[in-house]
Amino acid sequence: MTSFRSVTTVRTSRPTTDGAGVSLRRAFSRSMVETLDPFLLLDNFGSEVPEDYLAGFPMHPHRGIETVTYVLEGEVDHEDSIGNRGTIRAGEVQWMTAGRGILHQEMPRRSERLFGFQLWVNLPRTAKMMPPRYRDIRKEEIPEVKLGRGSSVKVIAGRYGKAEGPVKDLVVPVSFYDVRLGPGDRIDVLTDKGHSSFVFVYMGQAAFGPNEGTIVGTQQLGVLGKGEIVTARAGPGGTMFIMATGRPLREPVAWGGPIVMNTQDELEKAYDELEKGTFIDTR
Ligand code: FE
Repeated sequence: MTSFRSVTTVRTSRPTTDGAGVSLRRAFSRSMVETLDPFLLLDNFGSEVPEDYLAGFPMHPHRGIETVTYVLEGEVDHEDSIGNRGTIRAGEVQWMTAGRGILHQEMPRRSERLFGFQLWVNLPRTAKMMPPRYRDIRKEEIPEVKLGRGSSVKVIAGRYGKAEGPVKDLVVPVSFYDVRLGPGDRIDVLTDKGHSSFVFVYMGQAAFGPNEGTIVGTQQLGVLGKGEIVTARAGPGGTMFIMATGRPLREPVAWGGPIVMNTQDELEKAYDELEKGTFIDTR
């Protein structure tokens, strides 16, 4: 028997600043670490005012996590300590596995409007010190399944019907979708019932769960409970939301800013290495 996932928590994103002074909205972070395991954090950056984002995120370290950057409008230049550099353009995704460590910068370019997301996915103990890896996904690589009447779902990772996202062989099984629904349209997404799952609405509103029981509005996170199917019906103005599911790690979390390990000792070692200049493996 199939079961619909209910929304267990609705929470409005909070305005904050990060990096060298980027104004953004944080959908969730530390307080959801157990509920949304393996997801650690979701930021929504978006502004028509370049001063809100031009300071960007200058050189900073990451270890023990993956960062998933999804740009919908504008462009973000990136550059790192192991020689990668490029630009994430509108419609593109960068799936970065920090593993044992990278130093990088993420600098939005001046544009009409910048809009996008960064999601952090935790890595299991066995992969926290793996070699860093990048996947840059072009817009054309992301299948967009048309649902009729202008509704569609983009599959970045995982599956929707026969469509499979371009991000495969993930260390932690994760699915990631960008959904657009016209007024009153509905979508059902089949998920792995062992996965944690959330939606984040960035335009309009939608009713989620059995009997379309919970409304999640713009800039709100909906945490989904156990079940197999995520169901959403758009409100009268239509909706756009991202949705993710991931297999929980169920490991201890020691979180120090951009570095997330299992123990306090591992965290201290990482910050020690940063100080000594041995954080990056240059072999
Ligand atoms: Fe970063």
